[in-house]
Amino acid sequence: MKKLFFIVVIAVFALSSCCDKEKNVEKDVIVTKDSSKISNSEHLVMATTWFQKSAEARAIYYQTFSYAKLVLDEKLKKDRFKIKKQKPKAIITDIDETVLNNSPYNARLIENGTHYNSETWTEWIQEKKAEALPGAVDFAHFVKEKGIEIFYISNRSVKNLQATLENLKNVGFPFADKQHILLKDKTSDKTARRDSVLKNYDVILYLGDNLRDFDENFKYAKKMNRNDSVTMHSNLFGAKYIAFPNPMYGEWEKAAYKGDFSISDTEKRKMRIDFLDKN
Ligand SMILES: [Mg+2]
Repeated sequence: MKKLFFIVVIAVFALSSCCDKEKNVEKDVIVTKDSSKISNSEHLVMATTWFQKSAEARAIYYQTFSYAKLVLDEKLKKDRFKIKKQKPKAIITDIDETVLNNSPYNARLIENGTHYNSETWTEWIQEKKAEALPGAVDFAHFVKEKGIEIFYISNRSVKNLQATLENLKNVGFPFADKQHILLKDKTSDKTARRDSVLKNYDVILYLGDNLRDFDENFKYAKKMNRNDSVTMHSNLFGAKYIAFPNPMYGEWEKAAYKGDFSISDTEKRKMRIDFLDKN
């Protein structure tokens, strides 16, 4: 009887560990239409290769920061004749994929066949290894020389403030201090943090790779088509908002999943394909 009991226990244990393994396998791969299995970070390969290695991406960053300088100069020229006392001027910029390059983190996800999670992301931030994006440091010093302050508003967690500050400082950014870096505490909505700057400063330019870096109204919402809302406010882009390219991740991805990130990786891939225009 005792013997039988042990056999049953071993069998149950073996069965459960086998199923756990199977579950992990399913979690870590995408099953395609023809039943083949691919890594769930496969879609990041082209996006990360483009972002990290293409000279075109590099050119776009230089081009966009050069353009931002022109816009800034133009705004300062117009303000010269204003007699009324004005608030000090500032610009607001996002950090990740706007001034710092985190593509090595994505490359690691690809190598490990896994996707983003806050633990590995925090580890990457704590390494303080992110390089400045092309033209970003030069632009930041141009801004400083014009007597304009820079506020970095990012959805990195406040727990990463010290590492973020050091990373920005190490690669040469000015205003890398606690007063000018506003990270995420409770909400990813940046409105309150933007408002806290606007209270004391005249913010003349916003830089970001995600439309929510400019205005929370661009957040993905079922009733709102993000492309339509950009068209509606097209006059603001290049005037007040300076946008950078990020093919690796962003609010845009949510639209493909109808806002639901909790679906499986297999389902996500299917929805990405279904989402595309075929005609
Ligand atoms: Mg960003």
